[in-house]
Amino acid sequence: MRGENKDQNQMKNDLMKLPRPTISEMTWVWLPLQQKEMSGKRALFLQHVAQTSGMPLGIEVSHASGMYIYDTRGKKYLDFDSGISVSSLGHCHPIVVKAVQRQAETYMHTMVYGEHIQSPQVDYAALLASTLPHGLDSVYFVNSGSEAVEAALKLARKVTGRTEIFSCARAYHGSTIGAESLRSDYDFSRHYFPTVPGVRHIVFNDISQLERITEKTACLILEPVQAEAGIIPATQTYLQAVAARCKETGTLLILDEIQTGFGRTGSLFAFQRYGICPDILLIAKAMGGGMPVGALVASHALMQQFAHNPALGHITTFGGHPVCIAAALATLHILLNETYIQEVETKSQMIVDRLQHPLIQSVRSAGLMIGVELTDAGLVNNVVNEAIAQGVLIDYFLFDDRSFRIAPPLILGEEHIIEGTDKLLHALETVYKNR
Ligand code: PMP
Repeated sequence: MRGENKDQNQMKNDLMKLPRPTISEMTWVWLPLQQKEMSGKRALFLQHVAQTSGMPLGIEVSHASGMYIYDTRGKKYLDFDSGISVSSLGHCHPIVVKAVQRQAETYMHTMVYGEHIQSPQVDYAALLASTLPHGLDSVYFVNSGSEAVEAALKLARKVTGRTEIFSCARAYHGSTIGAESLRSDYDFSRHYFPTVPGVRHIVFNDISQLERITEKTACLILEPVQAEAGIIPATQTYLQAVAARCKETGTLLILDEIQTGFGRTGSLFAFQRYGICPDILLIAKAMGGGMPVGALVASHALMQQFAHNPALGHITTFGGHPVCIAAALATLHILLNETYIQEVETKSQMIVDRLQHPLIQSVRSAGLMIGVELTDAGLVNNVVNEAIAQGVLIDYFLFDDRSFRIAPPLILGEEHIIEGTDKLLHALETVYKNR
């Protein structure tokens, strides 16, 4: 009941009685919460901070630095998840922290969405555009990946005057109602019906389905590597056929690089290795170096649609907040000037090569997005729990319950690869012996 102050022991007992979560609940982890004494913060967290699963992981964060997150009991966790592909430069990169501090002292919110001229936004947009093909020269800053998706769908409808939208089966594009409408998993989305009308699904990597895209289609949105489906890269021929079909039918191609962007797959953006160019590119997650920000990038002509007839086509109070963009600018400078992106493939290969265990069925990778499929889906939960207990953070996938996810910061060194994979192998062995 609201306002009720539950006794800590009672709460702990209640927690112990709860059933172990199933993988389909996309749980966080059960064990750590069970094992720890309930601190005051923990009890207040459970009571007052909204959660999205019955069993939150509940690591009480003390601080984070580089490759590690530390809890309030002094336990150190090697981050092999990056908060799902966010902390690509690790935690609290000193240059990013400095940029945030400097900007916070200079000005914070004044007015965004292209009204005031704010130097972090201008410098960022110009720098980003200089790394992208000619048609991607205008940046609309938003707060998150989902908001970038929403704005892109709006833009596609306005530009084409069409309503039909295609997305791929087992894609994930965000949690707001428009983004959620793109999900093919009706068992999930039916709880939120009615979703946006006009959405249809095609099977990813199946060229024969592309003929369903016609002159009635406003846009096709897809990820170059399907992340939540368990790391499924698009084939070269598929993405080229996608781009050709979109061109032929006047359909806008929206590439969601929210998870694949900023070097994670071994190039600044994954599409750059496919010989295609989207009409709209969506970015977020690692963009802000740990600060919340996203953007859609398109041609100046396309983006002008938000400014005219009617004006204010998409507006957002905080999108492109100068402190976040200062962090994003520092992050982009680091990624462009250091060799982290060039090292992605070698580091990925080292991790993949070291992951040899009878419980492992296969390992799929796209740079430092790695999906490890087990021989027994029923053991994924145990392996994730055991790995976290060993002090290495890994994660689940939304739509692949046979695999666990590895997505470490790009800054990881050989010593972290050895530490992380040793701990993972130990976790696998423990689960193997106790199965
Ligand atoms: N698209 C993809 C591919 C994603 O992975 C995510 C987030 N997991 C989103 C969109 C939504 O981003 P956000 O959570 O910032 O709204």
